Amino acid sequence: MLIPTICPFCGVGCGLLLDVEGGKVVRVIPEKDHIVSKGKICGKGATAHKTLYLPGRLTRPLKRVGDSFVEVGWNEALNEIVERIKEVKEKYGGKAIAIYGGCQNSLEEVYLMSKLIRFLGSNNVDSCARICHEPSATALKEVVGIGASGTSVEEIPNAKVLVIAGEQITESHPVLTEYLIEAKKHGTKIIVIDPRFTKTAKLADLYIPVNQGTDVYLYNAVGNYLIKRGLYDEEFVKVRTKGFEEYAKTVSRYTLEEAERITGVPKELIIKFAEMITIKPTIFSWGLGLSEGGGINAIRAFLNLMLLTGNVGIKGAGPIVYRGQSNVQGSGDLLKPWILPNGPLNEENAKKLGELWGFEIPLEKGLTVTDALLTENDIRAVILVNYNVAHSLPNKSKVIKRLKEMDLVVVLDSYMTDTAKLAHYVLPVAMWAESEGSVVSLDRLVKWRFKAVEPPGEAKQALWVLAELAERLGLKVPKDPKVIFEEMKKVVKLYSSLKLEDVMDHSKNSRYPNGEIVLYEDKFYTSDGFAHFIPVEYRPVNRKGLVLITGRIVTKYNTDTLTTYMNDEEDIVYLNAEDMKSMGIKEGQEVILKSECGEVTVKAKSDPGLKKGYAFMINSSDLVNYVVCDILDPETRIPYYKSTEVVILSR
Ligand code: SF4
Repeated sequence: MLIPTICPFCGVGCGLLLDVEGGKVVRVIPEKDHIVSKGKICGKGATAHKTLYLPGRLTRPLKRVGDSFVEVGWNEALNEIVERIKEVKEKYGGKAIAIYGGCQNSLEEVYLMSKLIRFLGSNNVDSCARICHEPSATALKEVVGIGASGTSVEEIPNAKVLVIAGEQITESHPVLTEYLIEAKKHGTKIIVIDPRFTKTAKLADLYIPVNQGTDVYLYNAVGNYLIKRGLYDEEFVKVRTKGFEEYAKTVSRYTLEEAERITGVPKELIIKFAEMITIKPTIFSWGLGLSEGGGINAIRAFLNLMLLTGNVGIKGAGPIVYRGQSNVQGSGDLLKPWILPNGPLNEENAKKLGELWGFEIPLEKGLTVTDALLTENDIRAVILVNYNVAHSLPNKSKVIKRLKEMDLVVVLDSYMTDTAKLAHYVLPVAMWAESEGSVVSLDRLVKWRFKAVEPPGEAKQALWVLAELAERLGLKVPKDPKVIFEEMKKVVKLYSSLKLEDVMDHSKNSRYPNGEIVLYEDKFYTSDGFAHFIPVEYRPVNRKGLVLITGRIVTKYNTDTLTTYMNDEEDIVYLNAEDMKSMGIKEGQEVILKSECGEVTVKAKSDPGLKKGYAFMINSSDLVNYVVCDILDPETRIPYYKSTEVVILSR
């Protein structure tokens, strides 16, 4: 029996067919009819069924007793959790409760999380998008109106130029490498901007070795160059945008000479980059290097160039955000502490939502997950849904301490993660192939995951767990994902045009809004219909030590819970060979990697792709977030994962 589903790993959202024998998924076959992946999958997708059968699957609810866990029944666990939530609410109010997570969950589960937290009287809800592309979604929303990719990956071969900033496609979104190769055959020129010369950079026609954290200077200087020489798209800027004068005034102070000094990119390369992006159509795409490296301002500066060159709203152009999880786009759409699922957090939207949901919606802004776990605040009870915060947030020691201080930590997960180990209750939930519901790809394609097999033991679908908790707390909600899907469409305007039958048919285009593949051809989705330049200034950073940047490798996925069956890479810090020589460090030598937040012992190896002054670790490492510090973007509260100052000490 072959059951169609969507790959549980990256945001490309490739279609898979699960071959089921005797109640077990025995192999994965690429789904030829899938509208985007068209029968292509990478090594991770091809072995995805192994994630279901790793040692240590959780099969019964667990309750903490002292330093260990005891197995309990569902009734006991849920009733006790509900009592403890009620106690916290009575003592400290609804705003002492939070629900975070959702990027591995379906839209329907995420929607329930969003509803349940408001029922409890709080807006403390957030998704894992907070630590990856929330700045991208926020910047896109203010610049063009929708916080998602404005075109599809299918458009990559139609671009004459593809700009890739801070993204290793070959490691993070492997199937897209085939799109790059196809694009190159069509003559597409590829520009890669990255402080590290990656495998993706090897595919580039132009490589821009920008110094970490200096993107804003680079993009502003390019903007200034194009304006001064009249190389920008004046007609597009005049007819379809607002804010150009202020932008032009801001960037007028950014010179090529200073850009070369600050960014480390030779002036000639900057000019070449500037002139290449005036070609139409050009796609502006980016990954975590931009969002976790420079926060929202780096993305605004990048998008300003897209507007300046008129490269949006036409085939083969526009913005693409390389999102890293199968439903990070969807959970980011629905789970925000400052925005309601039906629009901005204000009295009017709260009233409308309250009428639909049948209870009063709180108006006070909630806390992001990073604020909740990395700053002083009043949260006392937290429900974490498939979210391993003790591994993935920076300053790991601080996060662990904060979780230990909580009155109640409830974790819904399938394996005993670092976070689950700190919980008061661990609730075993079904994984991607054991449940059904919809997920959103990195290019807004909403597709259904069909249930292929039963979860092990007493594990339940997260939807059931959330619905049971809601019901026992006094909120009756449907447990059928199809019913929730229809309810969600009434609340979330962007999703209103989705048709369940198209979402369930993987060969059909079921993108939101309105099935549009290329957005903004006629109008932008901003309140006035124009695209908006958002001028930003470069803020210099003074660094004394090495800069630690983090990133993915193809055989690991996020916190590595699901990829332990792949390459068991040691914890390694990669360094520039000359730096190693000057520090007297030998290849493979154990060293202490130290930052203001902590220190770890790792092996040192050289990486020919690293510039002098940089260190690199994979973000799946157990150790890396002891060292990465919790410096948060002032606006979007994303941690700057890619700019920790470190020193290396010999052991
Ligand atoms: S590219 Fe991403 S979605 Fe596609 S098979 Fe690989 S990991 Fe899965």
